[in-house]
Amino acid sequence: MKAMPMPKKFAKRFLPQLSEIVAHFGTPFHIYDEVGIRSACLSLIGTFPFCPGFREFFAVKACPNPRIMEIILSTTQELLGFDCSSIPELQLARQIGARPEQIMFTSNNTSHEEFVEAMAYGGCILNLDDITLIDKVPGNFPDLICFRYNPGDRRTGNMIIGNPLEAKYGVKHEQILVAYEKARRKGATRFGLHTMLASNERNVHYHVATVKMLLKIAEALHRDLDIDLEFINMGGGLGIPYHPRDASVDLFTLGQKVTQEIIRFTEYAGYIPKLYMENGRYVTGPHGVLVTKCINQKHGYREYRGVDACMSALMRPAIYNAYHHITVHGSRGRRSAVVDVVGSLCENNDKFAIQRKLPVIREGDILLIHDAGAHGYAMGFNYNGRVRPQELLLREDGSVELIRRAETAEDLFRTLQFEPNILSV
Ligand SMILES: *Cc1c(COP(=O)(O)O)cnc(C)c1O
Repeated sequence: MKAMPMPKKFAKRFLPQLSEIVAHFGTPFHIYDEVGIRSACLSLIGTFPFCPGFREFFAVKACPNPRIMEIILSTTQELLGFDCSSIPELQLARQIGARPEQIMFTSNNTSHEEFVEAMAYGGCILNLDDITLIDKVPGNFPDLICFRYNPGDRRTGNMIIGNPLEAKYGVKHEQILVAYEKARRKGATRFGLHTMLASNERNVHYHVATVKMLLKIAEALHRDLDIDLEFINMGGGLGIPYHPRDASVDLFTLGQKVTQEIIRFTEYAGYIPKLYMENGRYVTGPHGVLVTKCINQKHGYREYRGVDACMSALMRPAIYNAYHHITVHGSRGRRSAVVDVVGSLCENNDKFAIQRKLPVIREGDILLIHDAGAHGYAMGFNYNGRVRPQELLLREDGSVELIRRAETAEDLFRTLQFEPNILSV
């Protein structure tokens, strides 16, 4: 068992200066490790050395901060890009200099405005969620088009994405070939195939089965429609070890098995589709922690330790009942006690840990909530007048940079400033 889920290198760079960082910036904050994020990008790229043209499109929703996105893009320009699914995500990607071929637009229930934005500024790789959306692409139909495939009962998903049969995403099996044929009639000449079936999945065999499934569709496209895919996108969803007893995903085996499948396909179809992925969690998840201070100890029916962050900064425990490891800074040698670690939102699921054995926590103690770098800040909300915390970056040289200020009450009230507008019919 590892001491903690937070990568050792991150801890070594961060913990010695934690007290100064807290004194300077105050709590709570999310902090991300530039070194860890860069090395996660490089290890993904290094997983597929025999897949020419491999590209990782970072799922922007996992950590939509332009400084983090700049770090990702600059790690290896040619092999990285962004998976976007909303207009602001497209704007962020373009603002930091992503080129059209570095942006995959994977929306669902897409609006006209979203299509217009996706196709502007030189466009992007358009990934359509349904056959009916083909006719809704405005202007000239793009040369390159991709479809998101939903296999229905041919696969099982997992808790976060759900059973494919019940999931709202993707083109159903019976329509997938028809969709390509229709897109070709519209003028498309280059094609991609995408799926996204599971999130936080650490089992390599699940991901290999996903690639096999995509290659089966590629076979049918080659055989029945004479369409050769430019790429297959196996989605994101690589899991991370949230719990100290969890194993990391075995990237070496993943690379080997996926490459074998692609070689087998190439022998049959006579061409090599490029392999794409679009991980969010794997890239930033372990390389961010939420730092918060204990402000209250309550001896109720249970022992409660109240902290100055709440679920507005990290929703995963409340939404998915997810485990996030917690350590208490400077607590070595202390006795332990069973507590609930709670925020101050008026919802009883506003808890970072429930009946967890932790070193005795005193008021003023600094707590680290691990693996908050993906789907952490990004999922936060303002319910109950709660604001989201600041985001910091631990830079390569060890200095710490503010990369997003904390929200204030004024931010919450901004939408109450508007011109009077009354309709009397
Ligand atoms: C959320 C999402 C991802 C990223 O998922 P992770 O589990 O963070 O890797 C990738 N693709 C799509 C379409 C998504 O919605």
